[in-house]
Amino acid sequence: MALFDALRPAMLAAARSPRLERTISTMPATRSLVRRFVAGETEADAALAATALLDSGRLASIDYLGEDTVDAASAADTVAHYRALLSVLPRSHGPVPKIEVSVKLSALGLGLPNGPALALENARAVCAAAEIVGAWVSVDAEGHASTDTALSVIRDLRADFPTVGTVLQAYLHRTEADCRDLSGTRVRLCKGAYAEPAAVAFQGRAAVADSYLRCLAILMRGAGYPMVASHDPSMLRAALRLASETGRPTTEYEFQMLYGIRTEEQLRLAGEGYPVRIYLPYGAQWYGYFMRRLAERPANLGFLLRALEKGHR
Ligand SMILES: Cc1cc2nc3c(=O)[nH]c(=O)nc-3n(C[C@H](O)[C@H](O)[C@H](O)COP(=O)(O)OP(=O)(O)OC[C@H]3O[C@@H](n4cnc5c(N)ncnc54)[C@H](O)[C@@H]3O)c2cc1C
Repeated sequence: MALFDALRPAMLAAARSPRLERTISTMPATRSLVRRFVAGETEADAALAATALLDSGRLASIDYLGEDTVDAASAADTVAHYRALLSVLPRSHGPVPKIEVSVKLSALGLGLPNGPALALENARAVCAAAEIVGAWVSVDAEGHASTDTALSVIRDLRADFPTVGTVLQAYLHRTEADCRDLSGTRVRLCKGAYAEPAAVAFQGRAAVADSYLRCLAILMRGAGYPMVASHDPSMLRAALRLASETGRPTTEYEFQMLYGIRTEEQLRLAGEGYPVRIYLPYGAQWYGYFMRRLAERPANLGFLLRALEKGHR
């Protein structure tokens, strides 16, 4: 594990390397491994996988893969994909919709000139399309340099679409304070998946877990709708304990896990009557997402190396 932890920053840096992306994306041997984490490349693939999740008693949060958009046309294309997706998904009205979509503001243009206004306009278009079919929208958290701007865009978005969810990353020092600010709203709490420096983020698994537990307590004691995004048994146990301590019913929080990760635990919790939403990514630009999943677990890196080795035989 110590060697793997030392390799993690290099793997996260590789997640942003266009050269490695070309190599890994074009190798047929990696395809089946990618399929473990990604529903496929088209809206039809995403709708099929989402329907299977709903049929199994789980909920879905669907993400059209793409980040760091380079021009306004690609950002508009991302909006078009969300509209197409929402038009083929099962309709889902009710206090806790079965379908949520997750969006990345960088894919909606946040990094471009006039980025905050452009990303806000694009996010509004996605929210309007989601509202028609009764789906929720949550905004993913990305690198720390964009956190302030992203939170301010989400605040503006919530003025028109009050159910919009914010994703917060427990590894950031600032997140406890952000949890206090946002504890009356819908907040997805995750540990955080990017390589962040010690100046802004806790380093090491124990410090991140401690921060997660502090943030979780704030959200579970607040008046909002916490989304407990973790596969870590200690975080899941803490959420259940806090729900019982605070008398929070299962209609007022949910668990969230990633497609392809700890599937048995997803089904076990859903079978016991807890709401479990699965983050389901699709799209051709799976490389960055896939590399972040590999960086989370030594065994995944082993799977990739074996797939690459087979590809060379
Ligand atoms: C619904 C959801 C949305 C997310 N959204 C964001 C976001 O917007 N921004 C962001 O920075 N991060 C996001 N993440 C990722 C998150 O930050 C973590 O990187 C990831 O969830 C791993 O942390 P963990 O809490 O599961 O704990 P860990 O301690 O990393 O994992 C606990 C256990 O879960 C299993 N596990 C975890 N990851 C993997 C994996 N990749 N492959 C196989 N097994 C694994 C292992 O059994 C591991 O021991 C999201 C996670 C979820 C579940």
